[in-house]
Amino acid sequence: MINLELPKKLRASANQAHQVAAQIFRPISRKYDLAEHEYPVELDTMAAMVDGLSDSGTQKISGAAGGRSDEGEGPATLPVNANGGNMSALLNALETSWGDVGLMLSIPYQGLGNAAIAAVATDEQLERFGKVWASMAITEPSFGSDSAAVTTTAVLDGDEWVLNGEKIFVTAGQRSTHIVVWASVDRSLGRAAIKSFVVPRDAPGLSVARLEHKLGIKASDTAVLLLQDCRIPKDNILGSPEVNVEKGFAGVMQTFDNTRPMVAAMAIGVTRAALEELRTILTDAGIEISYDTPPNSQHAAAAEFLRMEADYESAYLLAMRAAWMADNKQPNSLQASMSKAKAGRTGTDVTLKAVELAGAVGYSQRLLLEKWGRDSKILDIFEGTQQIQQLIVARRVLNKTSAELK
Ligand SMILES: Cc1cc2nc3c(=O)[nH]c(=O)nc-3n(C[C@H](O)[C@H](O)[C@H](O)COP(=O)(O)OP(=O)(O)OC[C@H]3O[C@@H](n4cnc5c(N)ncnc54)[C@H](O)[C@@H]3O)c2cc1C
Repeated sequence: MINLELPKKLRASANQAHQVAAQIFRPISRKYDLAEHEYPVELDTMAAMVDGLSDSGTQKISGAAGGRSDEGEGPATLPVNANGGNMSALLNALETSWGDVGLMLSIPYQGLGNAAIAAVATDEQLERFGKVWASMAITEPSFGSDSAAVTTTAVLDGDEWVLNGEKIFVTAGQRSTHIVVWASVDRSLGRAAIKSFVVPRDAPGLSVARLEHKLGIKASDTAVLLLQDCRIPKDNILGSPEVNVEKGFAGVMQTFDNTRPMVAAMAIGVTRAALEELRTILTDAGIEISYDTPPNSQHAAAAEFLRMEADYESAYLLAMRAAWMADNKQPNSLQASMSKAKAGRTGTDVTLKAVELAGAVGYSQRLLLEKWGRDSKILDIFEGTQQIQQLIVARRVLNKTSAELK
């Protein structure tokens, strides 16, 4: 049976993440929303706290889909119904995103690429790359959703891989110390030949072409990266270099089982922030939200609030389930997509409805509601859009292949 009771260590770590969110992120949230591309220097001064988060982060992440370790209170070799690394990652992402999701995406050593490394790295690679700050570069000018369409190439030349291609919309693509790049080792072999590679920032041939201007998450840098005869060590390929046409794409795709619940957690964090603000606004306006009266007998705004709160709870529970399954070594692709679909949609719905119910003040910059409305949209787009998550859920539920249901 699913166990949602959090070990003391996880609760302490989530509490610490909340302190960072409340005391550091919230006060500078608007500042970096208005100063896109400016580096949030406060991130440097919070290094000690981030170290704490990062410690739980790397263990957590190493406990992810591969289930290598556990930081619950039970024996280290678990897991027998434990909440460990994945749950910790999820709670930290949720709490920090409650503070500011753009800044959360800029926290050193917490990149989406770190989760990718955890999903496919060998033990030796985890040792080498466990403490890096890794962004993730899949998207190219020619595709977004269709991750099997990678055109970036990786060719082995002696003891080095030589990478060529262009990656766009890379979150933390300028600030991270490493980039996990998806590239094909043999384009004639199709999707099975797509592998992920850890590219250090200072690798020769890697450059940042430009940064994007965006609707939201302005504190987060989004970069276009060029790989021009970019050379990296031979053992920076994640997982096996062998191309297994039978197994296909499964290796790299495993990444998403880790990252999708994380993005769901970000959306849930922003949703909670908006609901809390809205509750204050409604209470100040004299609108009572009652849990003892049917919604249809209450003020229309209170009824809306209760509907949104129910959506928030279900998004939260779906994400917790996906993380719990990963901690307990259960395949969770279906649940990871379900959680992201629900949380992504709930985030945009709740934040925009909160703006609407708050009226002019909600639309103004006096509060952060309008910002959360802008920030939350990306959480329903990257790591697979709403439509893509629904497609994956449908394929899994109906037992159809990607060729049968497109
Ligand atoms: C701010 C930001 C940060 C990002 N960060 C990263 C990152 O760190 N790393 C990275 O690799 N990428 C990143 N991305 C890219 C992101 O993952 C892609 O934008 C996303 O996957 C969608 O791809 P696309 O924009 O090309 O849309 P498309 O794939 O062209 O889709 C357009 C529309 O068609 C729909 N659609 C597509 N296929 C189907 C289908 N089969 N059935 C039904 N509907 C479908 C989509 O849902 C969408 O609504 C980022 C993007 C942004 C904007």
